[in-house]
Amino acid sequence: MDKLNLYIFTEDVTPIITFTIDNNSFVFLAKFASIFDIDLRTNHEIVPIIINDIRKKELLKMLQEASNYYGKRILKIYSLLSDIEDDKKFSFAVTSDEFEEELIDNIQIQLKFMNMDLEGIELIDAIENYIKLKDEIDTKFLSKYNMIHYDGSKTVKIGEQDKKKRVCRFCGKSIVKGKSFNSIAHVIPESLGNKKIFCHDECDQCNGGLIKTLEDSLGSYLEVFKTTWHVKGKRGVPKIKSKDGNLEIISLKNNPLLENNEEIKNILSQIRSRPEVLILQRNSDGSKIDPFNIKYQSTNKINPQDIYRAFCKMAIEIVPAELLNKLEFTNRFIHKDVKLTKLPKIAMTIHPELFLKHPEISLYYLKQNDENLPKIVIEIEIWTYAFVCIVPTSENEITDYLSEEKYKKYFDTFYFYKGHKWNFEDFSLDELRDFNMNIHFNQEDTSLENEKHTPS
Ligand SMILES: [Zn+2]
Repeated sequence: MDKLNLYIFTEDVTPIITFTIDNNSFVFLAKFASIFDIDLRTNHEIVPIIINDIRKKELLKMLQEASNYYGKRILKIYSLLSDIEDDKKFSFAVTSDEFEEELIDNIQIQLKFMNMDLEGIELIDAIENYIKLKDEIDTKFLSKYNMIHYDGSKTVKIGEQDKKKRVCRFCGKSIVKGKSFNSIAHVIPESLGNKKIFCHDECDQCNGGLIKTLEDSLGSYLEVFKTTWHVKGKRGVPKIKSKDGNLEIISLKNNPLLENNEEIKNILSQIRSRPEVLILQRNSDGSKIDPFNIKYQSTNKINPQDIYRAFCKMAIEIVPAELLNKLEFTNRFIHKDVKLTKLPKIAMTIHPELFLKHPEISLYYLKQNDENLPKIVIEIEIWTYAFVCIVPTSENEITDYLSEEKYKKYFDTFYFYKGHKWNFEDFSLDELRDFNMNIHFNQEDTSLENEKHTPS
């Protein structure tokens, strides 16, 4: 019997609902399309659609009616579409054909980049690069590493669901041993925008003690990035307080004062990314310093090695339980039970073309021992920044990747990072110190670097 397929494309999934061809299904599908102002008789293209509240209401009403006839599968469409955020795009197609896997993939990729507000040449470039890279990752990289990736598209709670059975991944203790598990631990700190990625296996005592200290250093470190991207924390957008007090933050969002400000217009025309705030720095005589090279001096002191530890603690939180034993050394490192004076560098980059609303985290672990590659690597992407860090699983591993040659070999394996300018920063210093950073905004080459400090 002839069938009609309704494909609903979102950037993550593409469910298919199959209808038997009859008058009822024609009427239903035509009505469904008309909610999005599409005429099925004339439209044969797959066009991106933005859903909104009014359409959602209309959709619910119509789908409820249709569910009397078609049953639960109709409600599935509703629940999928109502989960799509208001400003996100989705698409659908009605066809008697079956679409190839590859076509579906391509539509999903297209939606993903459209949801990042790319269009025209930028969109085409982004899609082409993405597909090329994906092929390379599939064939070369993933033969060496397993990958775990959480992007915040849905809530994940890693670890033991049952409180009574939980064992803290950091102190190894459970409720019977006097620990409590009342608050849920954020894998990436909440202050950095994480609302979706959690770990059950972390006791309140570790969460509020050692882990908090580490996250405080990371938070202070990232404070300047946070303001640049106008990210709202619990208490609104943080102000940048540079030690010499000379940073001026200008909100670019709905700011009528900017319309006739030639200076700011001129600066913005030279920045490829679209920050929501601009940071200007003034000399003591009031003249502005080069807006593309900002020197930031934190008012909070930062322990660089704690920042390294903070990245490692995220690895412990998301690693599959069966691999936890491989991270015993890492855990000792986090607890400061092993003294390390020199750590492998952390790779950092800015991808201004890609702004993430929710932070993402990836963990890569070797499939088979390979003496030229670290066993575990963690990557954290926040807003428009990415950090890649070797998770030390032994003292030898640390010594190994202090060698520039070996480090380069490892980093080159992660070839999907090519095409970005990376900085390799030293977070070895294990004491509280003032923190200065140079940020370079530039059309061709946006980068950041910690001001060099020699351990004193
Ligand atoms: Zn604990």
